[in-house]
Amino acid sequence: MPESEGSESPVGLRAVRADITTLHVDAIVNAANSSLLGGGGVDGAIHRAAGPDLVHECRLLGGCRTGDAKLTRGYNLPAKFIIHTVGPVWRGGAHGEPDLLASCYRRSLAIAAMNDIRTIAFPSISTGIYGYPIELAAQLAIEVVGSELRGKTQLREVIFCCFSQEDLQVYERLSAAPRPRIR
Ligand code: ADP
Repeated sequence: MPESEGSESPVGLRAVRADITTLHVDAIVNAANSSLLGGGGVDGAIHRAAGPDLVHECRLLGGCRTGDAKLTRGYNLPAKFIIHTVGPVWRGGAHGEPDLLASCYRRSLAIAAMNDIRTIAFPSISTGIYGYPIELAAQLAIEVVGSELRGKTQLREVIFCCFSQEDLQVYERLSAAPRPRIR
């Protein structure tokens, strides 16, 4: 993946295939549900790997709205922090899903900026149980994160963490596709 353009110090952007709970980054992003009390998919994996203290901190947060994000510690994870964000459930695409998914990425990056998080990994938010088509979600993720990184940023590395080989291929193909340069 190319480095983002126009920032004072370029940010590494890459896609990898991995279990996000194993990554040594400052923060991993969790595709949570609005209760923030744990669930299936990546959320369940993160709660299992972080340990029971995570749900105790999550209980104090009072849930999270779709499109918003909240920070906790990482507990037993290699990552110091977890940014929990709630993606939209796919209902055909005409119910605000793209704006809400874009907001997940923007809010997560804003929280990263406020906490001096320099390396961050995102799962493919909403594309599992919530049913957002992977091609559309990956395109949006690449565009929104790329455009957020064009400003001044503390970030050094952003990882799109794919769980399957198929998802990784989608991210790699879309990020290699030529797009108009925005200056
Ligand atoms: P959502 O409810 O937002 O759709 P899911 O957890 O069901 O969240 O799926 C989001 C993405 O996370 C899917 O691409 C799924 O394959 C992936 N995923 C599941 N477990 C992990 C994991 N341990 N590490 C990284 N990605 C994961």
